[in-house]
Amino acid sequence: MIPTPNDLQPCPHGCDALVLITITEHGRRMPVEPTPDETGNQAVYKTGTGTWRSRSLDGATARPPDPWEHRYRPHIATCTHRAVQQAIPGLPAGRPRTRRRAPARRYPIWKAP
Ligand SMILES: [Zn+2]
Repeated sequence: MIPTPNDLQPCPHGCDALVLITITEHGRRMPVEPTPDETGNQAVYKTGTGTWRSRSLDGATARPPDPWEHRYRPHIATCTHRAVQQAIPGLPAGRPRTRRRAPARRYPIWKAP
């Protein structure tokens, strides 16, 4: 399903881009780019009541998009008004996000006495 101009709203972060506001599985608002993108990680469809729903395709348990769903990219990835934004080509990259340390080993390594 492709959104019509009536479905689009200005970016809630204030970057002036028109975005499609979707509701995630968790009931949160998630702005996505207004055109489908095969590289997107959000499966989006419009419900019978006109609500756009999205669900993440990331994760091992996510099922592939259904025939009535299209892939979209989250607007956050390209939003220029987002405080915590990802690297934009042509701009110096911000400090790389520090990786979380691996969780501590649950069981101590057994050592021979
Ligand atoms: Zn934006």
